Amino acid sequence: MTNQKVYYGKDIEVMFNSEVCIHSGICVKGLPGVFDLSKRPWVNPDADTMEAIARHIDTCPSGALTYRRLDGEYSTKKEG
Ligand code: SF4
Repeated sequence: MTNQKVYYGKDIEVMFNSEVCIHSGICVKGLPGVFDLSKRPWVNPDADTMEAIARHIDTCPSGALTYRRLDGEYSTKKEG
C-alpha cells in the first residue's frame, strides 16, 4: 500500500516514496543528471556513479529516497 516506485539501474536501484517526500529539492539540485523532474522517468540511476548516487540519497532529509547497491555493500538504512 505504499506509494513507492523503484528505478532500476545497472549498479544501483533507487526507490522513491512520494508520500514521504517533503519537496526540499535537494535531490534535483545536487544531482540534476540523475534526478530530473522534466523527464520520465524522473530518476536515472545510470546517469552517475553508484557511489555518488548513494552518497547523495543519504542527504535526502525525509527518507523519501532510498537505494540498494547491487554490489551488496550496503543499502539505505530503513527509517524506524
Ligand atoms: S531530497 Fe528527498 S525530500 Fe527532498 S525533494 Fe528529493 S526526495 Fe523529496
